[in-house]
Amino acid sequence: MTSRIPGFYHLTLSERLDKISETVDLSDEEKTTLLDKGLSVQQADQMIENVIGTFPIPLGIAVNFKVNGEDVFIPMATEEASVVAAASNAAKLTYQTGGFTTSTTGSIMRGQIQIINVKNPYHTLAKIYEKKEDIIQLCNEQDQTLVALGGGAKDIEVLVLEESKMVVVHVLVDTRDAMGANAVNTMLEAVAPLIEEISEAEVVLRILSNLADKRIVRARATFENPFNNKKDEVERFLSAYKLAMIDPYRAATHNKGIMNGISAVALATGNDTRAIEAGAHAYAASSGVYRSLSHWELGDDGHIIGTIELPLVVGIVGGATQTHPVAKLALKLMKIKSAEQLAGIIAATGLAQNFAALRALATDGIQKGHMKLHARNMALMAGAKMEQVDKVIQQAAEKETFNFDTMKEIVESQQN
Ligand code: NAD
Repeated sequence: MTSRIPGFYHLTLSERLDKISETVDLSDEEKTTLLDKGLSVQQADQMIENVIGTFPIPLGIAVNFKVNGEDVFIPMATEEASVVAAASNAAKLTYQTGGFTTSTTGSIMRGQIQIINVKNPYHTLAKIYEKKEDIIQLCNEQDQTLVALGGGAKDIEVLVLEESKMVVVHVLVDTRDAMGANAVNTMLEAVAPLIEEISEAEVVLRILSNLADKRIVRARATFENPFNNKKDEVERFLSAYKLAMIDPYRAATHNKGIMNGISAVALATGNDTRAIEAGAHAYAASSGVYRSLSHWELGDDGHIIGTIELPLVVGIVGGATQTHPVAKLALKLMKIKSAEQLAGIIAATGLAQNFAALRALATDGIQKGHMKLHARNMALMAGAKMEQVDKVIQQAAEKETFNFDTMKEIVESQQN
């Protein structure tokens, strides 16, 4: 199969779905789920509390991606115009150079148990390490399924926060193909009484840490130089990245662009976007200065080499990944077999998104492409009826301006 579909953008909605179904066998019911049904209110009512409806978000497909040698269509759930197009355009520049290559450090999550008012913190630390095997065993008794899959609690780390007379026990749990928050929290709550007994002090917090520094994903790709080797534009591209390495004001926006891709694939697959975002931003600040999650370098051949590194806590079982019908289909579309595979694809999407943003910023600026795509939203916001939208956009294009004031003027002139 190939993820390169020139003109995918110009196909009708059902033609696009037919193209995708040529590579993944989708039943008529699955197609209906994607096109019309989505998540039913009855299904939603099983997921959260006080349900009164559902909140649909567009699901687009990013094309042109090759990850670890395999072509893949990437489903992205986002309300923001131009995100899917930007990812697809950037990925196109990597297709001939080998696509994206990824690696992960595994699927270990970190859970924290906070002990307060500890009389002799270092003595307590030593006593807790002596009971490491008992702690791990008790944790693993809570999740036989995970243990049978080769996962479960593997190790502990104990930290002393001397000034506050606190000791924090970290339980390291391999959560395999699950995101793992529930699995870890269950273990922590079960083992807390044993920790209190060993430490002869009071346990307060028993919760997973979203700074998943043992679940790091890396992706790299070589992007064909899109600047026709115009040296100053390449330098502008690299200088935009350099600013994100030293200036948190820029880094926040730079990383937001990365998260445009990451959160969209995470959401499409029913993963916890807040957990991923918290982890990514905490990791971006782990040197003491908040900075870029990606790095950009110039290759000898003039190509631009990008790398990204961040914690990516995603699952393909648990949470909403299997209960949300569209999330289940998103995993099927990508032929996902493991959480690590999904994490690699998500990191690749973030890197592509970052390339697209830097490229636009280094040349025309972000608004030119963005506003054209955002124009439909603006026209509707300015009061255009559905059947008027195309005409309003056409007139705005003639005026070469897509701002709200212009749209409003056009809509009003058409309605008068
Ligand atoms: P879960 O409890 O729904 O599923 C995980 C369980 O599935 C495992 O404990 C295991 O018993 C079983 N399982 C079956 N097959 C498996 C496989 N191949 N690999 C691993 N486990 C397998 O979900 P979870 O992943 O433990 O928790 C995710 C949910 O927790 C998300 O909905 C998230 O929003 C929520 N959450 C997040 C936080 C946080 O991020 N701080 C805190 C609390 C809850």
